[in-house]
Amino acid sequence: MTQTMLAGLLPFEHEPYHRYSDPTVAEAQRAAFRSVREQHVGRTLPLIIGGREEHGDGTTAVRNPADTRETVWYAQNATPDQLERAVQAATDAFEEWRYSDPLQRASIFKRAATLLRARRLEFNAVMTLENGKNWTEADGEVAESVDHFEVFAREALRWAQGKPVAPMPDEHVTTVYEPLGVVACISPWNFPSAIPLGMALGAIAAGNTVIWKPAPETPLSSYLLVELLFEAGLPRGVIQFLTGTNDVLGDPLVDHPRVRMIAFTGSKAVGCRIYERAARVQPGQTWLKRVIAEMGGKDPTVVCADADVDAAALGIVQAAFGYSGQKCSACSRVIAEADVYDDLLEKVVSLTRTLRGGLPEDNADLGPVIHERSAERIMAALAGKHGDARLVLGGDRPDTGERTGGYVSPTILADVAPGDSLFQEELFGPVLTFTRAESWEHAIALANDSEYGLTASFYSRDPAKIAAARQRMHVGNLYVNRKCTGALSGTHAFGGYGMSGTNAKVGGPDYLFWFLQTKTIAQRY
Ligand code: NAD
Repeated sequence: MTQTMLAGLLPFEHEPYHRYSDPTVAEAQRAAFRSVREQHVGRTLPLIIGGREEHGDGTTAVRNPADTRETVWYAQNATPDQLERAVQAATDAFEEWRYSDPLQRASIFKRAATLLRARRLEFNAVMTLENGKNWTEADGEVAESVDHFEVFAREALRWAQGKPVAPMPDEHVTTVYEPLGVVACISPWNFPSAIPLGMALGAIAAGNTVIWKPAPETPLSSYLLVELLFEAGLPRGVIQFLTGTNDVLGDPLVDHPRVRMIAFTGSKAVGCRIYERAARVQPGQTWLKRVIAEMGGKDPTVVCADADVDAAALGIVQAAFGYSGQKCSACSRVIAEADVYDDLLEKVVSLTRTLRGGLPEDNADLGPVIHERSAERIMAALAGKHGDARLVLGGDRPDTGERTGGYVSPTILADVAPGDSLFQEELFGPVLTFTRAESWEHAIALANDSEYGLTASFYSRDPAKIAAARQRMHVGNLYVNRKCTGALSGTHAFGGYGMSGTNAKVGGPDYLFWFLQTKTIAQRY
């Protein structure tokens, strides 16, 4: 039957981006900012537990990172008792949702896709005001969220079909997939729409219930998605929306004996902590917890001597400085063969000089990093000892007048040694290093010289080198002759190797398996 249901869904097409070069579209985006400011600035978001809105114990202010003098909205601080009740509510709701019809789940996601399509500009504006993405970046992410709805609608139906096994003459044998239980979804601020949504849809599509815990910096992008899912018909008990401080929603949520799985995306430090804590069986716990932990990156671009240097330079600048380098997939290391090194460096520097700094709300190319303290951390890292490395561009903080925020100039350093902390540690800001390779094989070896393995780009015109790179580059997402950012749901399943995490590959054909357990049923006729 599900075979027929799946056949009923047309092939999936990616959501197109807005063309802001069209003045009408640009004006519509400006109008969306005005309307979001009128509707949301100054409001306090509720918690949602068991379908009901609640206040917590005090609130946390959300600041506009582009000008931290402005508080945009407030989120509740959930209490330990509210965490307890949220886990209970999710446990109760699971008893019904686990048996829900996969076509019902798919229909809700399809309807949510339609609702979000109609409100994309509004969701873009909310994101810009809470995490400092410019229009283009916010638009890309909200489009990805629409894609997620479409992809997960199909995945819910596909996994409901089970898998074929070798038949027996006197037994009916099936392999079916069942949900796990309560899934805690813990997300970062840099993709406040697509990342929590991807994890939550994975859980819900599989028949689990969710504790949705957004990053403290970006609660409204999440809250609006939760409301949208309810409007699309999701039973309100299926998602508990909790905001608050890490002392209540960090370790206690991870350790809770009735949380069956943790789906986390964020830093290596927090991901490792969660992985370790979740391994400990708590009193009263009757399962081994499942953990997805998608973590950081130190993503390289390799440029071979035979590469199209102009194409490489453009891809590098887009991937390194888009959203001020605050993507886990951002290019932070360029490794180039000596023959093209100087030419490439010059081209990257001159393209970077054309980037326009300013307010994300005005769609400037380069906005702030998320916090003042992040900017200070980046400056401290640059100030350390870096051997023979040469500062070629930036390395300072631009003058932004009265506007306060973590603004950092786009920074390029040449001749950075592989052992240098700038080559090895994730900085999460607009900082790019260049390292010279003796050969293309040496360049691949340098690219792999990292504990991370998230994304990488490889530029060459030589099919033999490309074939070698495809086999030897140790990353979850390898891009050949294109930039290393911009994964599309349903096409570029996303997730890394090594210390970049568990390689769950959101948006890919195997993602839902992480949220399921497998039952084999053998029945004598
Ligand atoms: P973070 O690890 O500081 O926070 C992520 C989330 O974890 C937040 O919601 C935070 O409140 C929560 N948290 C903090 N302490 C916790 C604890 N002890 N237990 C449970 N939860 C806790 O990360 P961030 O600064 O929000 O995000 C940036 C990081 O995320 C970067 O390292 C980036 O590379 C990574 N990231 C990875 C991917 C990926 O797909 N691999 C995608 C986006 C971002």
